[in-house]
Amino acid sequence: MTNNITTTTPLLEVTDLARSYPLPREKLFQAPKQMQALRGVSFAVHSGRNVGIVGESGSGKSTLARLVMALDQPSAGSVRLLGQDLHQLPAAALRSARRDMQMVFQDPYSSLDPRQTVARIVAEPLAALAQIGSRAEQREQAAQILTAVGLRAGDLDKYPHEFSGGQRQRIAIARALITRPKLIIADEPVSALDVSVQAQVLNLMVDLQASFGVTYLLISHDLAVVHHLCDEVLVLHQGQVVERGSPNNLFLKPQHPVTQALVAAVPRALPGSKTQQAEISAG
Ligand code: ADP
Ligand code: MG
Repeated sequence: MTNNITTTTPLLEVTDLARSYPLPREKLFQAPKQMQALRGVSFAVHSGRNVGIVGESGSGKSTLARLVMALDQPSAGSVRLLGQDLHQLPAAALRSARRDMQMVFQDPYSSLDPRQTVARIVAEPLAALAQIGSRAEQREQAAQILTAVGLRAGDLDKYPHEFSGGQRQRIAIARALITRPKLIIADEPVSALDVSVQAQVLNLMVDLQASFGVTYLLISHDLAVVHHLCDEVLVLHQGQVVERGSPNNLFLKPQHPVTQALVAAVPRALPGSKTQQAEISAG
């Protein structure tokens, strides 16, 4: 890491983050017990350096994503976006901070409103901002972004059901990009897609990183997916980080049994990692 990076305020800084949920009571007058979905999670995301969160189902990944997006309150700890503690911000300040941070969800079928046109869906985050521009300006921006994700301006007046799963995820990515965020949090963005389509969408995300200067916090149960895109990976198990490191190191020398199981679960040949791609294009 260069000095420059270490002295710059991180894009995202998560410190000792915890979230517990009350368990259903077994007896009427019993004090409710808590289950710890997340505890003591700390990491930083620096601009241009994608971070991956990997873990099996139930390990706390989506809980973490919701806390980072400030869609849920932590039991302890903090989430700082460009130095601002998101969970301490008043509503108006949080809305404007959200411009810098957008989310892409797993399921491209349920995350897009079937009754809205692509133009409405993609421009929707603009409506949440203070200065939204005219309808025509919004449409123009949506058209530009659609082209950038490999769709066409002519798709603006279509509805989600007219697209394949991979195309719908491109629409979801376009919606995330329209506020020109610095950070995109993607929770299992390709898990619902066929393997060949997964690679296309991940490659698109790599391209968009270069053209839009966005950085990803990428969440997946699949180590191959985070390996493709990330510079650093954290392994989550029962709400705690059990191992962290470069994707290549985790892949080749997994230390924790959970990481070893995730490596063994990768069902296919590894797609080229970001580091390998960089080496190839540099060489
Ligand atoms: P992942 O995304 O890694 O599959 P989640 O973050 O969704 O995991 O869930 C982590 C744990 O927290 C699970 O045991 C889940 O059942 C529990 N959990 C998640 N959300 C809630 C909630 N709203 N109420 C109670 N328990 C929850
Ligand atoms: Mg999840």
